[in-house]
Amino acid sequence: MKSHAENSDAVIHALGSRLTGLTTEEAEERFKEAGPNTLPETKRVSIFLLFLTQLKSVVIYVLFGAAALSALTGHWVDTGVILAVILINIVIGFFQTYRAEKAIESLSALIIKRAKVIRGGYLREIPASLIVPGDIIFLANGDWVPADARVIESKNFTVDESSFTGESMPVEKSVPPVSMDAPLADRTNMVWMGTIAAGGELKAIVVATGPHTEFGKIVKAVREIKRPRTHFEKKTDELIRIVVVIALFGSLMTFFIGFVVRRLDLFTMFLFSIASLVSGIPEGLPAALAIVLAVGSRRMAKRKAIVRRLPAVETLGAVDIILTDKTGTLTQGKMEALRILLDTEEITVEPDTSNILEGLFLKNGEEIIPLEDQRLDKLLHAVTLTNDASVVRDGKIDLFGPATDLALLLLGMRAGLSKELLSTQEKELYELPFNQDTKVRGLFVEHPSPHISTECVRELYVVGAFERVMEGSDSLLTLSGVEPLTDEIRNDFLSRADVLMRQGHRLIGVASRLMPPEKSSIDQADITHLIFVGIIGLWDPLRPDVGAAIEKAHRAGIRVIMVTGDHPATALAIGRSIGLVLPQETVLENVLLTENQVAPMNDEELTEKLRERISIFARVTPLTKLRITTLLQKNGYLVAVTGDGTNDAPALKQADIGIAMGERGTDVARESAEIVLTDDNFASIVAAIEEGRVVFTNIKQVSFYLLSTNVAEDITIISALGLGLGLPLLPIHVLWLNLVTDGVMTAPLALEPSHNHLLQEPSRPREQIVSFEIIPIILITGLLMAVGTLFLYQKIGGGSASPEHARAVAFSAMAFFQLFNALNMRSLRKSFFSLHPFSNPWIILGIVLSVVLQVSVIQIPFFGQNIFRLEALALWEWTLIILVSFSIFPAMEFYKFIRYRRRN
Ligand code: ADP
Ligand code: MG
Repeated sequence: MKSHAENSDAVIHALGSRLTGLTTEEAEERFKEAGPNTLPETKRVSIFLLFLTQLKSVVIYVLFGAAALSALTGHWVDTGVILAVILINIVIGFFQTYRAEKAIESLSALIIKRAKVIRGGYLREIPASLIVPGDIIFLANGDWVPADARVIESKNFTVDESSFTGESMPVEKSVPPVSMDAPLADRTNMVWMGTIAAGGELKAIVVATGPHTEFGKIVKAVREIKRPRTHFEKKTDELIRIVVVIALFGSLMTFFIGFVVRRLDLFTMFLFSIASLVSGIPEGLPAALAIVLAVGSRRMAKRKAIVRRLPAVETLGAVDIILTDKTGTLTQGKMEALRILLDTEEITVEPDTSNILEGLFLKNGEEIIPLEDQRLDKLLHAVTLTNDASVVRDGKIDLFGPATDLALLLLGMRAGLSKELLSTQEKELYELPFNQDTKVRGLFVEHPSPHISTECVRELYVVGAFERVMEGSDSLLTLSGVEPLTDEIRNDFLSRADVLMRQGHRLIGVASRLMPPEKSSIDQADITHLIFVGIIGLWDPLRPDVGAAIEKAHRAGIRVIMVTGDHPATALAIGRSIGLVLPQETVLENVLLTENQVAPMNDEELTEKLRERISIFARVTPLTKLRITTLLQKNGYLVAVTGDGTNDAPALKQADIGIAMGERGTDVARESAEIVLTDDNFASIVAAIEEGRVVFTNIKQVSFYLLSTNVAEDITIISALGLGLGLPLLPIHVLWLNLVTDGVMTAPLALEPSHNHLLQEPSRPREQIVSFEIIPIILITGLLMAVGTLFLYQKIGGGSASPEHARAVAFSAMAFFQLFNALNMRSLRKSFFSLHPFSNPWIILGIVLSVVLQVSVIQIPFFGQNIFRLEALALWEWTLIILVSFSIFPAMEFYKFIRYRRRN
């Protein structure tokens, strides 16, 4: 042992550090030298790749085809324009996607990795980027190792190095020196940046940071893992299929009518084919979808949900089950120890509201001095020492550590105990860290005997879920000494505990045990023959907005299931007070299951239970959480899972949407999640789901909007062909309509806010972007646009006998139809007049811009005559066009009224 200590002292010395850590000045000095402890950005999407993706899209293929055909028929201007459009389209699409990805990256950067270090003698939490060589760091279960570091002290510390070595079993780390030639995997006295603490605790000294770490050296070689296609990608694939079908159908129709029915010459046929091909494809769609997603992710961030992967924005809207944690998500996670149950009496604690470190201990309303009572003395010693929290009094008071531990530490401080002082009197021999499966933790210490001060005794403290601690106990500490723990006393404790749990208290049991002096370490098997001391009731207030959020979720058809490690009685009390369990639900087995009930069930039985109204799983282990998630998904549900601990990572990864906690969560949990909540609040999940539904609705609205022009253009061109009217729209006109006039309106439509009805209907995870809902809408708008356009084309343009003039009419009619149609597409169901008129001012701006563009392109000779080959229109012609095209607005209003009158 001694040589190890010497060895680590030498390492600390060699790095110019000391056990109390670097001073702030030293750290700053070294920071200047070593630079920030960060790695060169691993680009998630390379710019070149983004460019290629844009190039690959169907749209571009079709446009290339059209350009080739134009060139073949000698239409060089058209060829040039189409090629320019291809370029512009690629650039816009690329720019949008790139911007959206960048936005997400910068949002992700808000989620800072933190590290625990000793600086200037105090344990602190700092951003991991500020770590420098020589820093003494602490690691516990779930932490990312922030830098390469040499072990100084290890308590059963194990680490998951799979990202490094591919070895999936956690490896144990210890102090003894290892040959410098040993491969990374065998250097058991080193921990490496980027690996994950799997259990136990570690103190280590930082040797290398940032790009100088082993991880930094290989990071460039790390390739991006191919993810399976997301929910959103599957839906857009389907959308593209539909678009292709429409385009092919239009082209075939054109060919059939032109070649077979009308027997036109090859040259005219080419013209029509190109026009119909370009018409059939919504050229602006890829960019429009990117905008909707980007807007959605920004709105979610405003509502405290940071999206780590863009497509998750859409998936969120379709979630139909949320598996949520209790502590810290439904409750505030700010715990206070307010009650203590001893063998015969109950102690009430009243924290001082003005000084967090002070408080009163009351027995029957009378103040007592807690450390004078040997039961309280033992209990407070145990929870103060068996504790991961720390309170730094460095000018101001800073609190660190898990909420449960903090509450217990403060309890001890209010009684006058100091962890620092106690740790020097009671020497720690061995620690059993808190374990999610057993729900208890232990600390093995050596301290002077209270009776003979020259002798030492070895004692084990056990703190954890009270019924587990009580199960391990066979005697009881009373005022007059140790007595047997009879069934009668057990039952008395249980019934008193039950009262506290019904009020929503989270209970912690405390016990201790003297150990033989030759014992130097402990394990799970030693948690037996304990002397039970008492129970502490922790009060964790509910988050005020959770009840309303649960109600919203229920109304939206989203089922909420609480999955907690806490006691069923506490969980039930919380469940009732937030409306998760209704007053009429009195049969416990129908609403709540515990680990003990779930474990023996096979998958069919558990699935059966999940179909019923089970809304709480209590005292469960992380593995059961994973199992529940998987089973729900197998049954077709789209599941969102929240989690904060490392053990939650598998469930978070498995979930369709993993939601990690930004404040409380471990780095691993955050890394495995799609969404990170910056305020840890359940209500933010529901808010994000609402935004997700807005995104899906807007995707639908924008897609319908763009598709309606395509269908209208196709019908117009094919009808003109059939009726022998000449070509009303040249490919350039179609492109202008699809990209410019439509394009100006897609951004405003993408910004359409929620109309407050989206959380009032059940989610439809499998609903496609283009469903049967679109058929009547497309038929109404598409037919009206085509008929109106052809009518004006003939009426005004036909008389003038100039194709340039007639095309100017058709071109403008189509543009104005779409402008007015944008008003319809603010909502597919609600009347325009029931929407708040100014909730989307962008629409008005878009319309104005679009009108200006359309009028200029026709009236300004350079564009109108030279490029678009049109003639300018007279005022009366413009007026007539506007009057006719406006009809699309009342027509859709009428449709919405007939179809949805009952709902509106
Ligand atoms: P939750 O779902 O509420 O987060 P946990 O799994 O964290 O539940 O905790 C389960 C039980 O374990 C708690 O009811 C408590 O009795 C005990 N427990 C939790 N954290 C600690 C701790 N830090 N020290 C001792 N006991 C703990
Ligand atoms: Mg927990």
